[in-house]
Parts: sequence; C-alpha cells; structure tokens
Amino acid sequence: MGIDMATNGTQLPEKQKAAQFNPKDQTVSINEIPIPSIKPHEILVKVKSASLCHSDLMLFEPNEQNLTLGTGAPFTMGHEACGTILQLGSDVQGFEPGDNIGWLPIVDCCYDCDGCQVHNLHCENGTPQVQGMSVDGYFQEYVAIHWRNAAKIPAGMDLSTLAPMFCAGCTAFNSVTDTVAELKGSEPAETWVAVVGCGGLGHLGIQYLKAMGYKVIGIDLSPDALEEAKTQGADHVFNPGTEEDYIAQIKQLTGKGVHAAINYTNSVPAYSSNPSLLRTNGVLMVTGIPQKPLQFSAMDISMNRIRVRGSNNGTTPRLRECLEFSGKYGIKPHLTRYRLEEFGEMLGVMREGRGVGRLGVVFD
Ligand SMILES: [Zn+2]
Ligand SMILES: [Zn+2]
Repeated sequence: MGIDMATNGTQLPEKQKAAQFNPKDQTVSINEIPIPSIKPHEILVKVKSASLCHSDLMLFEPNEQNLTLGTGAPFTMGHEACGTILQLGSDVQGFEPGDNIGWLPIVDCCYDCDGCQVHNLHCENGTPQVQGMSVDGYFQEYVAIHWRNAAKIPAGMDLSTLAPMFCAGCTAFNSVTDTVAELKGSEPAETWVAVVGCGGLGHLGIQYLKAMGYKVIGIDLSPDALEEAKTQGADHVFNPGTEEDYIAQIKQLTGKGVHAAINYTNSVPAYSSNPSLLRTNGVLMVTGIPQKPLQFSAMDISMNRIRVRGSNNGTTPRLRECLEFSGKYGIKPHLTRYRLEEFGEMLGVMREGRGVGRLGVVFD
C-alpha cells in the first residue's frame, strides 16, 4: 500500500509500454503492461531516462559463468535508469515524493549481511535478482524499486542524460577510486593511468581520472572511441589495431610504464597485453568481464611484478559518493537518445558496436 502524494491529482494511466525480453525465444518486443503497484519497501518512480548496458547483451548469449538469465515469463529489460519519485511504500525512509533519484538494480537481498556489504549479489540471507535481467527492469515509464537501492541526485544534474550514471558511471567511479586507493601516496599529476576500452565505461572513467588530476592514456580499437577519449580529456590515445608498437610508445612516454591500467573491455586479448604496460608493482584493475577466464603469470603476481585487483558497480553508499563527486565536478555521461518504440533498433546498434557513448531511452 502506497501513499500517493506526488501525482498532483493527475491519474496514473492504467497501462504502459515496456521493452520486454521473452526468455522462451530470446526475442524482444514492446508490450503493454500494468503500472506496478508498490509493496511497503518499494518506491514508484516515473523514469526520465533508461540506458542500455553491455551486460544486457548477456541475455542473448550463453555465458561461461553459467548464469541463468531470465526464465519463465517475459520481463522488462534495463538495469540503469533515473527519475522522480511518485509514491512511497509505508516502510520507505529518507525520501519524499518529487525527489529525483537513481538506484542500483539488485533486489531480494537483505542489504545488511557481510556479503551485502561487499556486493548485494553476495547476499547470505536472500536470493538476489537483478532487475532487468530476470525480473522487470526500467525500459518502461513507471517502475517499482527497492528504497535501499536509491540515492538522491544532486540539484543541477540533467536527468534526461543521467541514466548511465547508475551502472556505467558508478562502476567507472568505483574502479577509479579503487585504483587510487592502491596508488596511495603517489602524486596524481605524476601518475599515469591507462584506460583500456574508452566506450560506455571508459569515457566516464577518463572524466573521473582527469577530475582527480591523473595523467590518462586511452587505449581502444575504435577510432570513434579514441576521439571520445580525447574529448573527455585523455592526454594521449593509442589504437593497438593500427599502432603495433603502442606498448613501446607508452613505455617511452611514461618512463617505466603506467602506474595502473583500468580494463573496461570484455576482451581476453586486451587483458593479456595489460601486464606489459605496467611498471613494477603496477595495478591492473579488472572491471570489464570477458566470457572466458583470464590468465596471468602466477610469478608476476606472487613477486608483485603486477597487482591484480577487481572493481564493480558497488553498493548504494558508494553510489551516493559517486553522485556527490559527479555533481561537484560536472561529470556527464554521453547519451545517444532513442524512443522506446525504437528499442529494437537501439539494441541492434549496440550489438554491432556502432554506438558512441551510451544508448538510451528518454521519456517525456
Ligand atoms: Zn550494467
Ligand atoms: Zn545480504
């Protein structure tokens, strides 16, 4: 039972359109579904923008992690979005109708156990699910979310382009802050960080690194992504596809190699070449997730030639830090807009790797 305070007397429509995945035949269609009615722990949000993430493509592919993504009835795709609160369930604390919020997508976890402190997918008490991966996500105008996932958006941020902040943005922010924590003591202006993969995640990672004062090298096989990297402030960019000696060039540029490389790709070859970019005791931050396992030299790791660490989209307290920093430093996702009716076309553009920045739907 919800408290309806913010619909300003206007009735909610009875039905809405949703871009849904059908697990039976792995097709996507625009379906008419009811507006969700919220449970006590839920918030009803009117979505402003929702964007596609590379992980959404996992629905269409077998994966080596043996994750079962979506069984049974069709569900709405999408796990990164933001919008404005319409209704609050009776257990919700700290939010008001009219608040602009973004949120993380994991539900059916407890948010309090040891596992949840690391990542809500590690919950020891629940059976976590990802909205948009097995239960309804956000490519629909009205969504119900768990209040423990929500974070307020600072004033002045544009919600119509902000959806990518809630997966790509917080992942990029966490990967940068986790890297900085490993590099403690080194002066940003004298510290080189390579951003491997300059697309949806990388273009944000570059913005965070530059806002913190680091020297950034962008690496990507796509000339468009390298242009974007330069636009976002990368000091140098390299294309391993056309510059065979790029590792030697980076060694020359940085003296001994980079202090850290943050890999946002899902490419095993991209990861395999990263240790040779790093100086002694350099950090490889594993962020992008290839389907196949990665291999590194145990000698390199045991002898601290390289440090291999991991980072991810994190938990809600970290999302709040990310929003505060992003608002303060004017970090902005680059969003190419589509209408909900164009969802199939947008998905095609992403599958073919033709998109620039992030691709998303903006609701009026
Ligand atoms: Zn994602
Ligand atoms: Zn838990």
